[in-house]
Amino acid sequence: MRTNRNHNLILASIVCLFVVFCFTFGALADQTTVNKEVLTVCVPVDRCPVFYLDDNKEVIGIGADLMRAVADKAGFEVEFRVMKEKTLKDALDNEEYDILIPFGSAIKSSSGQSSIVSDNLMQTPFTIVTVNHRNITSLNKIKVGMLKSQGGVAETISQMYPGMEINLYEKIDDCVKVLRKGEVDALLHNSYVWSYVLQKPSYKDLSAQTSTIFSMDFRVGTRDTAEGYDIIKRLNQGIDGLPDTVRQGIVLDYTSRKLYQYNFFDYIDEYRVVLLLGSLLFISLLIITQQKYRSFKLQQEQKMRELIDHDPLTGALSINGFRKKVVEILRNNPDTKYILSYNNIRDFKYINDRFGKEAGDELLTFWAKKSMEVMEDDEAIGRMEGDHFVVLRHAGGNTQLKKDENDVINHIRDFFINRNHDNKVRICSGIYVLTPEDYRNPDVDHMIDFARVAEKKVKENLKESYGFYNPDQWEKGMRSADIIGNLPLAIGSGEIQVWYQPQVNFETGKIIGAEALCRWNHSKLGWISPGEFIPVLEESGLVYDLDCFVWEKVCQDLQRWNGQGIHRTVSVNVSRSDIKEQVDIPNHFKELITTYGLTPDQIHIEITETAYAEDSALIIDASRRLREYGFEVEMDDFGSGYSALRMLKEIPVDRIKLDFRFLTANGDPEKGRIIVSYMIKMVNDLGMKLISEGVEELSQAKFLQENGCSEMQGYYFCKPLPVEDFEKFSEETITGLLKKEG
Ligand code: C2E
Ligand code: MG
Ligand code: MG
Repeated sequence: MRTNRNHNLILASIVCLFVVFCFTFGALADQTTVNKEVLTVCVPVDRCPVFYLDDNKEVIGIGADLMRAVADKAGFEVEFRVMKEKTLKDALDNEEYDILIPFGSAIKSSSGQSSIVSDNLMQTPFTIVTVNHRNITSLNKIKVGMLKSQGGVAETISQMYPGMEINLYEKIDDCVKVLRKGEVDALLHNSYVWSYVLQKPSYKDLSAQTSTIFSMDFRVGTRDTAEGYDIIKRLNQGIDGLPDTVRQGIVLDYTSRKLYQYNFFDYIDEYRVVLLLGSLLFISLLIITQQKYRSFKLQQEQKMRELIDHDPLTGALSINGFRKKVVEILRNNPDTKYILSYNNIRDFKYINDRFGKEAGDELLTFWAKKSMEVMEDDEAIGRMEGDHFVVLRHAGGNTQLKKDENDVINHIRDFFINRNHDNKVRICSGIYVLTPEDYRNPDVDHMIDFARVAEKKVKENLKESYGFYNPDQWEKGMRSADIIGNLPLAIGSGEIQVWYQPQVNFETGKIIGAEALCRWNHSKLGWISPGEFIPVLEESGLVYDLDCFVWEKVCQDLQRWNGQGIHRTVSVNVSRSDIKEQVDIPNHFKELITTYGLTPDQIHIEITETAYAEDSALIIDASRRLREYGFEVEMDDFGSGYSALRMLKEIPVDRIKLDFRFLTANGDPEKGRIIVSYMIKMVNDLGMKLISEGVEELSQAKFLQENGCSEMQGYYFCKPLPVEDFEKFSEETITGLLKKEG
């Protein structure tokens, strides 16, 4: 037992001693750490992964870890300071720093102090980077860009490659800019740094040239002082004792990390295409949505408008819609003839009472539906109220009225009969024929009022079912329709003829020419005068067809007379609407005379005075060209319009055709004669030719001659004659006439 107790005591003493030993040793060891000398180390931090700041603003990196390991071995503790100076040379002069890294070799500070450097901590690879895969095979004789903070390294490299021109720049971005501009051939930097920097997406066009890699020493340096010397000496021992495996481990640790972190611009750069497509998609979606919204709104508005403009029961236009539609139709169809009718069912109240309101509504809907079936897009039907409908319809004459009676009215009449009731529906309609003023200034309410007046008259008269507000206009419209509709047939059938009215020289009694005037023996209307059908054809744009026929007929007659050895001259009328941009009138006449072998002097072209005033530019140009081709151009009806004397100066015509009738018809005849005499004098003085038309009496002829106008045309000499009679008309007739009058 005793022995056992002794054993326990010895064991406890050993444990106590061990604890005391451990404590003392630990305390000693702690004391050693505390007493380690602190080295202030200046490092640049713009070169990840060699030196950079982590998230806690601590200096880390391959260089930093190596430095720590070496210092540790040498018994130093390090305190890193971020290099504030622009270059290592400037930093070397700062006495706050005990040592600085990285040095390639010893350099002079900015103030000229010498430096000393440690042994090599590691070999660092240096690589050049070019833009667009440019290949550089030699490092001599090239211009490279480096960071300003690498001034020291740059100096070492300069010694290694004396032919290399090194330019220093503030930041990597500046270096890249000058490289892209071509101001330097390549950029030079630590390969580890490149492996980091080139991860930036916007540097995609840069590439490292591995064929030109070279090594640089990585040393610690300080000022060449006794203190510096001591530090370097101790550090060299540390470097010496640092195993290679530690060095490689540190390098591997940093180079295998994914250190580069994308900033906002990097993301933009990296996903440029995606972003662009995304933005385009977004904008397109925005536009589509906006357009969809707009068209939806338009549709809504359209629906609203349709609701306002339409009668919900019958589907016809409301009065408001009818007004708008009529104005629009007349604006768009100024050449179409229209009638506006006001229609109403006799005793509609009785129908409602007898068959019920629903049947009445059915009848109205049926009426509107039937009417719309026969109507064109440029026609309209509106419901005013109750059984009152207004209709705008093409003025198609009696045929149209008959057709409407069959297609619409008869069906309405028999609406109840077809449903086995003995009631005939009776409609009365008042019709207003639209006048030119209605197209110029459409007042729909006025037109409706006129049609309503006619409808009221019809209502009073139990026999009629329709009547006109303006029957003359209706007659006129129907005649116009007959003229327009028959023209093509009339031209070919001989209904239209060309007559000639001789033109004479009153002084010599000679026939100097003739005017071609057309005559129409209409199959339905009988003889109609050009005074009626020419304006209708002008308005409907058909006069050119008629004139072409007349001009050709004249040329045929002239050719025949030429063949008989009679060289005649004929004046033809050219309507103002013949001269338009689409047709080349001068050329047309030129071709005609070539076709019929005539000379241009055989055709005189008459253009009415008012045409010159209305559309002078086009007509003046046509006149000028006609004269160039050798035709004589005459200003017809001079004195009939608002002749401006200025026109005589500006318009290129050969002959003035005074209309004696217009000049003497109204007012004081004596004053008229004075005006005529002065006009003759003026035209003569201007050196223009002159002819007077409308000469009906000898006294007029004498007056004209006494005042200087001998060429005349008029009933006094001869009325327009059919061609056969004109051919027989001879100068003897005139001489006989003159002798008779003494
Ligand atoms: P305009 O060119 O001034 O023709 C003269 C008109 O005066 C003719 O009427 C002729 O018959 C008539 N006239 C001639 N002498 C006298 C007279 O002493 N007293 C009276 N009161 N009248 C006389 P017309 O043939 O009825 O022609 C009327 C107008 O129609 C013509 O006036 C002309 O502007 C036009 N016209 C006639 N034929 C044609 C044609 O083929 N083409 C075109 N574009 N217009 C034509
Ligand atoms: Mg004429
Ligand atoms: Mg005339």
